[in-house]
Amino acid sequence: MEQSLVILKPDAIKRGIIGEIITRFEKTGLKMVAAKLFWADKDLAGRHYPYDRKEFIEGMAKKTVENYEKFGLDVMKDFGTTDLNEIGQIIRTWLIDMITEGPVFCMVWEGPHAVELIRKMAGHTLPLAAAPGTIRGDYSFDSSYLANKAKRGIKNLLHASGTVEEARFEIPLWFDEKEIHSYERVEEKAMR
Ligand code: ADP
Repeated sequence: MEQSLVILKPDAIKRGIIGEIITRFEKTGLKMVAAKLFWADKDLAGRHYPYDRKEFIEGMAKKTVENYEKFGLDVMKDFGTTDLNEIGQIIRTWLIDMITEGPVFCMVWEGPHAVELIRKMAGHTLPLAAAPGTIRGDYSFDSSYLANKAKRGIKNLLHASGTVEEARFEIPLWFDEKEIHSYERVEEKAMR
């Protein structure tokens, strides 16, 4: 049994599609065990997007550089550097601004393979590359080209834990233990 942290970001809240996204998760049989509308401060956002998680910081930068190459754009001109860590740190400040610009809807979902299943339903990080049928593919069209030009994070509606270890790190940042509930859904018997 796994748990995954899902955060519907301010762009999803402002567009009024909280219910539609939750419905998708509910239909799979996954169980919502925690939920709240919450306005995060920069300190929490900074811990959620850790300054020193190299694979996350440089991974984002790598995706950006690849995109710049694809569109024939100049990384140096927009970021003032080609160093992956420095590019990643600049993007990280945009993410912190984006996730704190309004309330978010945070949830913990539980079930077998919850992490992998939710990532699959969320779709590719870049909405332009997300397959139709996924949440990002169906509800957004943003790209790193548009986002980086405007010096902002990519509006891709939701965060979902990338791995079980990431979920274990992230869930206690957003929820106290007493906010996470244990109960049974009727499908559990049928799907056992
Ligand atoms: P994911 O959310 O799919 O796990 P990442 O962990 O790589 O993706 O990135 C975290 C978030 O940062 C993304 O959901 C997206 O909103 C934003 N983001 C990622 N890469 C970029 C980028 N190059 N420019 C702007 N925002 C980005």
